Amino acid sequence: MTRIAIAGAAGRMGRHLIEATLQAEGSELAVAVDRPGNSLIGADAGDLVGQGTLGVAIGGGLEEALDDFDVLIDFTVPDATVANVELCRRAGKRMVIGTTGLSEAQRGVIVEAAGEIPIVFAANYSAGVTLTLKLIDMAARALGDDFDVEVIEAHHRYKIDAPSGTALRMGEVLAEALGRDLKRNAIYGRQGQTGERERKTIGFETIRAGDIVGEHTVLFGGIGERIEITHRASSRMTFAKGAVRAANWLSGQGAGLYDMSDVLGLR
Ligand code: NAD
Repeated sequence: MTRIAIAGAAGRMGRHLIEATLQAEGSELAVAVDRPGNSLIGADAGDLVGQGTLGVAIGGGLEEALDDFDVLIDFTVPDATVANVELCRRAGKRMVIGTTGLSEAQRGVIVEAAGEIPIVFAANYSAGVTLTLKLIDMAARALGDDFDVEVIEAHHRYKIDAPSGTALRMGEVLAEALGRDLKRNAIYGRQGQTGERERKTIGFETIRAGDIVGEHTVLFGGIGERIEITHRASSRMTFAKGAVRAANWLSGQGAGLYDMSDVLGLR
């Protein structure tokens, strides 16, 4: 049995991760932690998701629980994730990271730690988005520079980073397929006297409203036609199940940085 720890257990994703861990075969919920001071510290993880008392209380720190789990699933905030990477690296624990909005330096910490421990780091753990990344790569290579490329994403009002990690990942895939540099070619929203569209830009549009779980469209606009590839998530369980699947998959892997394409065998 893989012993799973969940960081951010009291959060939106954390609660779905508790449920997904309980549903999955081959793993058990061993540890659940959240931010010290969170009002749910001490609550039972099973009670929190209406699954009955499990005897796993939500703790306020990972450090005291390092002997009690094999793999940490972390969907928190960038600073907490980086601190957890350091703890897991020192303790030789595997990690599945879902947190988005990390700076380049923070991503560098993950890349470095993956030299010593196995880490899955994906902006999106749904199988559908993982396939969508393949489809947009294929479309961009086929359509080339004749079509303008825009990435449009929508999420719930509570999301704290923009564009979404998934939209940025889509941008990276598109830039790579089109031989462009995302840092130079990305345009984040438009306003005022923008002038005509610069042909090689990759545009990002962000919508924040209500309880939208996550929607992404890549629009390829040509003269006389356009293609739109859209993914819509309707439940966070899709991300949670993917993350737990990644956690179980990691038990057979050596140190390295992996993403959902590796987990799903799409490489
Ligand atoms: P949320 O705010 O509901 O939950 C985050 C939780 O982390 C909160 O309970 C918070 O108290 C906790 N936290 C903060 N600091 C902590 C610390 N130091 N130690 C432990 N816990 C701490 O947010 P959410 O909607 O659950 O999203 C969490 C992250 O996951 C975001 O970055 C979001 O973009 C990302 N996300 C990724 C995917 C994916 O598939 N990769 C899918 C959905 C969300």
